[in-house]
Amino acid sequence: MEIMSFNTFGLDARLGKSVALLGFEQPTPIQSATIPVALTGQDILGSAETGTGKTAAYLLPAIQKLLAQNAPAQIAPHALRVLVLVPTRELALQVNEQAEALCKHTDLRVAPIYGGVGMVNQEQALKRRTDIIIATPGRLQDHIQRGHVSFKDLQILVLDEADRMLDVGFLPAIRRIVRELPRERQTLLFSATLVPSILSLASEVTYKPTRIAVETTATPPAIEQTLFTVPEHQKTEALQKLLADQEMESVLVFARTKHRADKIVKHLKRANIRADVIHGNRSQGQRVAALDAFRQGKARVLVATDIAARGIDVEGISHVVNYDVPMQAEDYVHRIGRTGRMQATGSAYTLVTPLDEAMVKKIERAVNQKLPRRRLDGIDPNASMFNQPDAEAIRRYVEQQRSQKPSKYASR
Ligand code: AMP
Repeated sequence: MEIMSFNTFGLDARLGKSVALLGFEQPTPIQSATIPVALTGQDILGSAETGTGKTAAYLLPAIQKLLAQNAPAQIAPHALRVLVLVPTRELALQVNEQAEALCKHTDLRVAPIYGGVGMVNQEQALKRRTDIIIATPGRLQDHIQRGHVSFKDLQILVLDEADRMLDVGFLPAIRRIVRELPRERQTLLFSATLVPSILSLASEVTYKPTRIAVETTATPPAIEQTLFTVPEHQKTEALQKLLADQEMESVLVFARTKHRADKIVKHLKRANIRADVIHGNRSQGQRVAALDAFRQGKARVLVATDIAARGIDVEGISHVVNYDVPMQAEDYVHRIGRTGRMQATGSAYTLVTPLDEAMVKKIERAVNQKLPRRRLDGIDPNASMFNQPDAEAIRRYVEQQRSQKPSKYASR
């Protein structure tokens, strides 16, 4: 394929300048595929994972459209014209950050709207008129109900990580929001997977969308993946042994529950390892502080649950450790995609107990390879957990078995 440059899109010079400042030299495949189509005004149904550059793939054409309008007389200055819906506050903040960076040389206003913080500042942002809003559906719906927002001039709707929005139960809120929007608009829908529920949502909210799928191997080849067989009761010890390797500089650890995440951080801190935690029970302030500490290298380890980790966009994560195997094979692919972003290399380590073997098979099918296994010194993979009964492991096993049947992804 011919290598494209951002110049070929004919973007406004102010946008070109921001793109250069962000250090984007060449468009990524999803950007090359999406931007020209989106600039024609067509709807898009795109399948792209986080880490592929999909945010700029929709933000660039959306901002270009606003800049090209030159404030037509019939539209009030800073009327809300672009709405981006995202599943989590973390993603809202990150998309907002990128939108602000791209709008840096323009007078366009951008604001994030998400739950877990006060309404007043957001109400002001909405009332003072803002061109681009990045919102989580639940909180935006609250603002709509209170009459804080007018969509009269809305031109572009973006649904980002639509599959995640459905997973966390935002479908009713999305429907209610879409009912408020002008029918004549451009809709760009992105989802990691195009499962039936997404196709059905697309048929409700888009009009003759162009389908865009970029060739992504299930996992970026740059990520080295290893399984460590450990008995459940030695997981924390195994994690500490792994962390003895100082090359593990910036480590994202996935735990299955908030409680387990807290427990891991407590153990790590006791072992003098700088660690922080991010999960749904923490306040917005705490999450932002934890992410900042991790980004700046003040915390070497960030322990997260799957939902809290959505949208975490931290460059330079050297290692992902699955302290617990995920409940869905797709989550494994999402998790390990947090490292090795944008051509960087990374490693993903997964602690596997005997009860996880069925899930490991599914994961290996999802990534289309048999994953290598290693042992850790001093950890006997055959130490039977039944010698040391572990209620949590048994509960997890039962839950995993239970969750297999009704899974939306079961057929993959
Ligand atoms: P996303 O998939 O949108 O979350 O983007 C993943 C990361 O890639 C972000 O840190 C972006 O800033 C970065 N990125 C996006 N587009 C490009 C590009 N064309 N060149 C280099 N980096 C990019």
